[in-house]
Order: sequence, then structure tokens, then C-alpha cells
Amino acid sequence: MSKIRALLSGPLKREKVQPERTMGRVVYDRNRCTKCHLCLRVCPTGALSLADDGFINLEDERCIRCSLCTRICPTGALRMVKE
Ligand code: SF4
Ligand code: SF4
Repeated sequence: MSKIRALLSGPLKREKVQPERTMGRVVYDRNRCTKCHLCLRVCPTGALSLADDGFINLEDERCIRCSLCTRICPTGALRMVKE
């Protein structure tokens, strides 16, 4: 957990969000999701939300492609893909 704590307090701090670092679009694979909900803690726009079943909802229209979620997701369930 110390690595995650370091990410949250360092490079993934919300004020350091840099939307200009667009790399593509985020895709979500619920088969790889462990419901840890770390991604919900870092998304600055509300594009990610908690689904009734504990998995994640992704609203692409609200995503600014900051990649914070894909960088913190420990399982690769959230990935940035080229458009
Ligand atoms: S960080 Fe990854 S594994 Fe955790 S809830 Fe989000 S998508 Fe699922
Ligand atoms: S890439 Fe999109 S979904 Fe992921 S944290 Fe940034 S705004 Fe939220």
C-alpha cells in the first residue's frame, strides 16, 4: 500500500492533473476489476462512478483523458488505448 500512498500524495495529486497529456481513451475491463475503488479516489471529473454491483461505471463524455485512473489501477482493469 505504501506505493499507492506515494502515488496519491505525489504524482497523482489532483492539482497536478494535466489534461493535455492526452494519450487516447480509457477502457474498462470489469473481468480484471477487484473493486478496490482506488480509481474513484483519483478521478477529477466524476467520469468514474460506483455501480450498484460494486464495479465501476465509466462515462466517456466526462473523461478528460488525464490517465490518473489508469496509472493507479493495480490490475490493468482501466487502460488507456489509442483512438
Ligand atoms: S482501480 Fe482498477 S481494480 Fe480498482 S476498482 Fe478501479 S478499475 Fe477496479
Ligand atoms: S482518465 Fe478519465 S476516467 Fe480516468 S481519472 Fe482521468 S478523467 Fe477520470
